[in-house]
Amino acid sequence: MDKRKRRVRHGMVKERARILVVGGGYVGMYTALRLQRKLKRELERGEAEITVVSPDPYMTYQPFLPEAAAGAISPRHVVVPLRRVLDRCRVIIGEATAVDHAKRTATITTLATEEEGTGGRQLAYDELVLAPGSVSRTLPVPGLAEHGIGFKTVEEAIGLRNHVLEQMDIASSTRDPALRDAALTFVFVGGGYAGVEALGELEDMARYAARYYHNLRPEDMKWILVEASDRILPEVGEEMGRYTVTELRRRNIDVRLETRLESCADRVAVLSDGSRFPTRTVVWTAGVKPHPVLAATDLPLDERGRLKCTAQLAVDGAPHAWAAGDAAAVPDVTAPDAGRTCAPNAQHALRQARTLGDNIAHSLRGEPLETYAHKNAGSVASLGLHKGVAQIYGRKLKGYPAWFMHRTYHLSRVPTFNRKARVAAEWTLAGLFKREIVSLGSLEHPRAEFEIAAGGKPSQDPPHDPKGSS
Ligand SMILES: Cc1cc2nc3c(=O)[nH]c(=O)nc-3n(C[C@H](O)[C@H](O)[C@H](O)COP(=O)(O)OP(=O)(O)OC[C@H]3O[C@@H](n4cnc5c(N)ncnc54)[C@H](O)[C@@H]3O)c2cc1C
Repeated sequence: MDKRKRRVRHGMVKERARILVVGGGYVGMYTALRLQRKLKRELERGEAEITVVSPDPYMTYQPFLPEAAAGAISPRHVVVPLRRVLDRCRVIIGEATAVDHAKRTATITTLATEEEGTGGRQLAYDELVLAPGSVSRTLPVPGLAEHGIGFKTVEEAIGLRNHVLEQMDIASSTRDPALRDAALTFVFVGGGYAGVEALGELEDMARYAARYYHNLRPEDMKWILVEASDRILPEVGEEMGRYTVTELRRRNIDVRLETRLESCADRVAVLSDGSRFPTRTVVWTAGVKPHPVLAATDLPLDERGRLKCTAQLAVDGAPHAWAAGDAAAVPDVTAPDAGRTCAPNAQHALRQARTLGDNIAHSLRGEPLETYAHKNAGSVASLGLHKGVAQIYGRKLKGYPAWFMHRTYHLSRVPTFNRKARVAAEWTLAGLFKREIVSLGSLEHPRAEFEIAAGGKPSQDPPHDPKGSS
């Protein structure tokens, strides 16, 4: 008898293994890719099916978001279309809102279920991959919810780019010195790679754009990085972190270590060192926390809210549930001290996804599982055009060589040949022509002009107030 057709689940003989992947990011997309390759024959024979549920029809290559914000890469090229790459999977655009693993069902909402008003629908599965990643970790800072903007999605990156350029337009056209000052003050909270790269790239872009304004000089802008600990960019090591502080300060960026944002109510950033900055831009990149949907499952979580996993990427004590990436606490078997878990980064997410895909295939075939083991190789970070910092396998790089390494590394990593070719073409063209400095904030409100023409009032905020961040 064919073993694959005789898989026993809940005392019943199943004809087909239904694999549900929640999340279409690094882990979700790469696991599904691996599975559709490993289970090719099973998929063809109808013995397995893979369903991927993701709120967006694309995977976002997050390390490229700072360059997308700077206009060096177009937004479409930092995302990978899930339907195209996962051509043997069923892709559902929606969200898992709860998981009852004891009953092997997930509750899914989609745009259609919202329109129909029927609530979520139940999706039954045999194997579950839970990879919803993380969300920004916020603190109860007054004004943050109203005025802050995160930096995790392509929408936020492009919204921020438009917003910065619009602030320059406001500053250039106002006669009110207080408004001009606030428009030209940009506060970033959090000195990890998201915050440092976003600030480095946007400041570089704004400095370049300033040359096209008759009454703006780069020195008129205030860029402030606020970091609660005594160092930034821990990912590149202490020495390179110190170099980054010096390099940013050399560019006139005000780096404040051991400082916290205490309030940004009424559009005034108040810092723990007593300083106050009227500002229309507060970018919050002070770390991430596991996605809240994990709390709506019956799966075990650690004290930080991540799924407790084994080194084989199975959820601890929950057979047929698997996890990896930012949402999972995966033991780091390469660490000298026991109890350490893998850091939430793309380096682990990508490699864990491969092992995870392999292990699901092994498990379906009754084969032994592989253990996930990867020693952190280091990190690369861009600080603007031709500027960077890196530490790879203990080797330290700064300036142009680090920036070049950043580009080559990420070009080799961005999924699909199609995206590699498009990004490489964009970088090449950018070397030949001038940088793009146009703000397309009005794209966020495409009906505004027609509504005015039709005699109505624009129903949304004015374009220079994206996501309430100004
Ligand atoms: C600006 C920025 C720069 C970065 N740069 C680097 C870098 O240089 N190097 C590095 O190693 N790491 C970097 N990272 C971190 C890296 O991107 C993450 O660690 C990695 O994306 C984690 O992968 P993941 O699959 O766990 O989560 P994600 O890639 O975030 O994927 C989660 C997916 O789940 C979806 N989802 C969420 N909720 C649900 C739900 N309820 N139902 C269904 N789907 C859901 C999300 O929409 C998303 O598609 C960066 C992150 C950011 C924000």
